Amino acid sequence: RAFSVGLTGGIGCGKTTVADMFAALGASVIDTDAIAHALSAPHGAAMPALLAEFGDDFATPDGALDRAKMRALVFSDASARARLEAILHPRIRDATAAAAAIATGHYTIFVVPLLIESGTWRERVTRVLAIDCPEQVQVARVMARNSLSEAQVRAIMAAQVTREQRRAAADDIIVNDDGLEQLGPQVDALHARYLTLARARGK
Ligand code: ATP
Repeated sequence: RAFSVGLTGGIGCGKTTVADMFAALGASVIDTDAIAHALSAPHGAAMPALLAEFGDDFATPDGALDRAKMRALVFSDASARARLEAILHPRIRDATAAAAAIATGHYTIFVVPLLIESGTWRERVTRVLAIDCPEQVQVARVMARNSLSEAQVRAIMAAQVTREQRRAAADDIIVNDDGLEQLGPQVDALHARYLTLARARGK
């Protein structure tokens, strides 16, 4: 199987920021959040199944998934969460595989926020890259970006593995606890490594 990297990290640690830098160097970046979003956008491929499962009142007027309503439901109802994931996860898997099959970059990076948490992703990628930062930095960045309270950000973080668990599960780590200028050298070094590994594998 082709060499690929699963890029993960806690909320606000900088996954998108780092993934964009790899893309600029010629990696193909496939963002599973963006794919999940497209599946439940107006006319998204998962919409018929989602509305059949949860009812037409989970659609917005333009025919997308009502995310706020779904978030509220699955927050308090584990079985609803399981039913949602049973619809979305196979479709995300198929759509990411289809995107990877036609990717033209030097190698593929899958951005998977809950890679460590979700289990099946680990076996689909050659290496796991974690974007690492202290919790206080996550809280500060997400409060600033999404105008959330500290308690709201901490509640999201509580549903994710800890920084230590993520670091332990990763093959490679990029530290993003300071300015953006800290990232370039780390990305360059890993990109060189990934190119070598991808070539050794015959892409
Ligand atoms: P999410 O899990 O919410 O999707 P993410 O892990 O993809 O987040 P980013 O969106 O890349 O994280 O970064 C979170 C916010 O912090 C963004 O507003 C981004 O511009 C900012 N940011 C990331 N890294 C740095 C940095 N080194 N210096 C300053 N700001 C940064």
